[in-house]
Amino acid sequence: MAAVDIDSAADPKRMANEAVVVIGAGQAAAQLATSLRSGGFAGPLTVIGDEPFLPYQRPPLSKKFLADRPPPDSLYLRPAPFWAERNVAFVLGTAAAKVDLHSRIVTLADGREVPFHSLVFATGTCARRLPLPGLDRDGVFSLRAIGDVQRLRPAFDQARRIAILGGGYIGLETAAVMRGENRDVIVLEAEDRVLKRVTAPAIAKFFDRIHRERGVDIRVQARVAAIDGEGSELVLRMADDTEVKADAVLLAAGAKANDELAQAAGLACRDGILVDAVGRSDVENVYAIGDCARFPSARYGRLLRLECVQNAIDQAKAAATAILGQQVSYDPVPWFWSDQYEFKLQIAGLFDGHDDAAEIGDAAAGRFSVEYRHGGRLIAADSINDARTHMLARRRIAEETNKAASAPIGAA
Ligand code: FAD
Repeated sequence: MAAVDIDSAADPKRMANEAVVVIGAGQAAAQLATSLRSGGFAGPLTVIGDEPFLPYQRPPLSKKFLADRPPPDSLYLRPAPFWAERNVAFVLGTAAAKVDLHSRIVTLADGREVPFHSLVFATGTCARRLPLPGLDRDGVFSLRAIGDVQRLRPAFDQARRIAILGGGYIGLETAAVMRGENRDVIVLEAEDRVLKRVTAPAIAKFFDRIHRERGVDIRVQARVAAIDGEGSELVLRMADDTEVKADAVLLAAGAKANDELAQAAGLACRDGILVDAVGRSDVENVYAIGDCARFPSARYGRLLRLECVQNAIDQAKAAATAILGQQVSYDPVPWFWSDQYEFKLQIAGLFDGHDDAAEIGDAAAGRFSVEYRHGGRLIAADSINDARTHMLARRRIAEETNKAASAPIGAA
């Protein structure tokens, strides 16, 4: 889709008095724009995206899209006519480079200026970089965007052996796809188990076993000290003085909030833009939603920054209500999923702070759930090929954690 000519399309007075401008054209931005229009917002609405694509679903990038390589527009959340009918202007392929909160102007990387009345940061996350010499070498990739898949696919097609740095969801999903293509895969995880940051030991143990059974070489407490070599002859120098050879490397060591632009503009940030329960920052009419926002949860008794589709959608809806003057607070039971081989993991709630974990079902048969409790209340559940338990758990967690305000769950 061609970028709109904002200079000629917009009436500057109207832009300054009414316009909503969204920085970032991902999942949260798409929902915000949809909710604003369906909620009756008729003013100018502009979405600025640094990628050359309309808002698209990111989850398939490490799953079906990586495996099957359909055309990029098959990932679009909505086709171009949907946005045209709603009069949502997209400026794509250009980053917002500067935000002036006093003159209320966004300056794009190409120098164009976009005035706003309300501004929404929906800038998502980027791959967390490790302090590792050699990360910029040819043959080392990360996987967060369509462009990343387009860059890494030719190298992966040629690769016999792929090294994945990080045993989180993206690393393990990619490992599953690469085993499906019969490539040798080695996962190097610095922690003492895979999925350490995101799930409890029982689920990690299950996926560790499944991947090993399918031929993935998983090494835990494996610290890479440097990457040498180039192209298809990379050498990972390990902290224990051994080395691992690979034809291509995927860096999958987690994500970091894209909050630098907001920070430079003067907004309060702490690995994420700090917002309230409707997505408002500490500056009037400036909001943040989705992966880049950190918000207070009364339910979990702490500030949360979530990286999941559920959060991008529901927080965007809450911010839209605030922009429309209604203000419906957001305090979710988060949920997430991951597909690896024929296994679908569905996660409800947040497991940190649990004092009891109970397994239901048959892990050996590949269909089971783990329920996590704190003080007898269900706070989270992980389900593998067990959609019914997942759906029930979402309802039960919502009910049981509603009583949590006086007894916060988990770490501060
Ligand atoms: P994004 O969708 O990331 O969109 C942010 C956009 O803003 C990006 O296009 C970014 O380039 C752009 N941007 C940043 N800075 C600027 C700037 N200065 N100017 C202009 N544009 C800018 N979630 C699940 O629930 N289930 C899954 O199975 C799952 N799998 C995933 C697999 C992968 C490979 C990835 C990367 C993510 C996955 N997620 C999954 C997470 C989910 O995709 C995100 O939580 C969701 O996309 C967040 O939406 P968002 O709008 O906040 O950010």
